[in-house]
Amino acid sequence: MDNTSEDQALLLLNNIEVVYNQVILALRGVSLEVKKGSIVSLLGANGAGKTTTLKACSNLLQAERGMITKGSIYADGKDTTNLQPHELVEDGIVQVLEGRHCFAHLTVEENLMTGSFVRKKDSRVKIRQDLERVYTYFPRIRDRRKSLSGFTSGGEQQMTAIGRALMARPRLILLDEPSMGLAPQFIEEVFEIIKSLREQEGVSFLIAEQNAMVALRYADFGYIIENGHIVMQGEADVMRERGDVKELYLGISEEQKGTFRDVKYYHRRKPAFF
Ligand code: ATP
Repeated sequence: MDNTSEDQALLLLNNIEVVYNQVILALRGVSLEVKKGSIVSLLGANGAGKTTTLKACSNLLQAERGMITKGSIYADGKDTTNLQPHELVEDGIVQVLEGRHCFAHLTVEENLMTGSFVRKKDSRVKIRQDLERVYTYFPRIRDRRKSLSGFTSGGEQQMTAIGRALMARPRLILLDEPSMGLAPQFIEEVFEIIKSLREQEGVSFLIAEQNAMVALRYADFGYIIENGHIVMQGEADVMRERGDVKELYLGISEEQKGTFRDVKYYHRRKPAFF
């Protein structure tokens, strides 16, 4: 971890607007920040704009005919909007895409090694040491290191994808729906590892999630996005205690009755306290 103030924003989105195919308005005035060493959750339903927000940060929108049409993004005070995706990775900002995207025909270890390709200046010894470090966080994938990724479980693939991001020596990981398709014990395991990576390596995280329950339990700060717009934000432990957010948890995890939209309307009826 570097020695700058913990309060300084590592990532700052200022009033971002994103348009796909020159007509589809996917984000409207999204502003958010990730402080150094923090875990921030971006919560929302399908199609709310979570992935688009992360791709705006890592400059991956162009590949999908998407474009930032308004606003600015800063990493450590530096405007990143004109950087190439690989320059951002070299600068320590790494995205783990939704659905893990491991190379199915490569082994777990080969997948991990692909994360180090941006580190052209580092020696093989150093990269080998980092590989060992990744295995200390993910003992489960150490055991599977010689297996083809395509034959590993969803949880193991998620761990491989995060491990691969770590091999790039990131300071910020943009993590898209790490819980998607995972059994509950895997979800906890993955989030526990995220927590220790923050504590021991000083890595910051912006995590897009539909699983608000687990995401807010591990985050410092949360944002809820709906229809491309941030409708609520606050300290994660405060948000977790809010009646409307609790209703949302129940809606999603037990009774299947609430939606993120309900939170917005509840929020409008009762003014937010942050
Ligand atoms: P999910 O959890 O389903 O991935 P999300 O919150 O990540 O949802 P986005 O994928 O960011 O949402 O989508 C936001 C909006 O942008 C949606 O209306 C979606 O249809 C639209 N969108 C996303 N990708 C594209 C694309 N490549 N071309 C056109 N529209 C897109």
